[in-house]
Amino acid sequence: MNIAVLPGDGIGPEIIEQAVRVLERLRAKGLQLEFAYADVGGTAYERHGHPLPAATLELASRADAVLFGSVGDPRFDTLERALRPEQAILGLRKNLGLFANLRPAILYPELAQASSLKAEVVSGLDILIVRELTGDIYFGQPRGRRSAPDGAFAGADEGFDTMRYSRPEIERIAHLAFQSARKRKAAGHAGRVTSVDKANVLETSQFWRDVVTEVHAGYADIELEHMYVDNAAMQLVRAPKKFDVVVTGNLFGDILSDEASMLTGSIGMLPSASLGEGGRGLYEPSHGSAPDIAGRGLANPLATILSAAMMLRYSLGQAQAAQDIEQAVRQVLRQGLRTADIAEPSASSVGTAQMGDAVVAALG
Ligand code: NAD
Repeated sequence: MNIAVLPGDGIGPEIIEQAVRVLERLRAKGLQLEFAYADVGGTAYERHGHPLPAATLELASRADAVLFGSVGDPRFDTLERALRPEQAILGLRKNLGLFANLRPAILYPELAQASSLKAEVVSGLDILIVRELTGDIYFGQPRGRRSAPDGAFAGADEGFDTMRYSRPEIERIAHLAFQSARKRKAAGHAGRVTSVDKANVLETSQFWRDVVTEVHAGYADIELEHMYVDNAAMQLVRAPKKFDVVVTGNLFGDILSDEASMLTGSIGMLPSASLGEGGRGLYEPSHGSAPDIAGRGLANPLATILSAAMMLRYSLGQAQAAQDIEQAVRQVLRQGLRTADIAEPSASSVGTAQMGDAVVAALG
């Protein structure tokens, strides 16, 4: 299994180093993994004049999966948009056809105090948000500014966008959500998909709901419920543990996935996956390059280590190895190890490498 490793900028190289050490431990125990590195982001711009050099894209396209650190460096914020580090992510998504974003929101009971919600509401939370990534009102045409053609303000300047989803776009994300729920059910979850829309108001949403219901016919072992997005936003903070897998479009998913991630209180713990056809995927922590702590050995590597676990589960078919990593992370948290971002105020904390050491040791 060939993994393209793109460390990127800021804390990217530090956290990727720890995730690769964890994967190397699994390799030593028999998993066949090969790593190939390439530059991305500001680092790539500095060395090759572009945030996503052709060689990096080529390596990522050939790999079975991409393990990505983070990009972004304030030194490059004044470059023209196409050359800024963050463009590398958009380029990879587009070229690799990554149409689904998977973001688990997991709150380990040991970290319940880090959430802004009451511990009993969130302790033990383990849900998965599946967001469609390439369609919806973010990309729909036509869009722009014009003179309003009709209505009470006809003739006034207006801005407009177009919300649209085609059947194949909905079908492929629905399949992915049901299959993810099936994988999670095998690991003890409820086996339920909540499809979030605004079908009481939007034609696009009613079509979304109809197609998701049709796709569900092939997944008798998985329960399907539909929920309006306003209610979903409320339920996520009222009783988030009632959810298992949530599937939704690009716009609603953008908002709900950020809401869900804050339930856990700590950005340093949140992995993510962006998936395309045939199991291809890019795996990265949900956070950015954290320039304020880069190079100081303070970053929490767990989001990246947990992203590597997602890679094993979703792209490499190694569910047991994924569980082993997740179990090892739970164990180090139980042992009381904390990087500064998840430590109680005034409690002692460990650095990036020590946290990596502990996860490697917990793998046995
Ligand atoms: P950020 O996520 O990098 O940092 C926000 C805060 O969280 C900072 O205080 C940082 O120190 C802390 N933090 C983040 N990750 C941490 C970790 N693993 N351990 C401990 N603390 C951590 O967001 P930002 O400051 O808004 O953005 C910084 C740069 O990252 C920008 O250039 C931005 O464009 C980029 N960015 C990149 C990605 C990506 O690569 N996918 C995502 C978001 C932001």
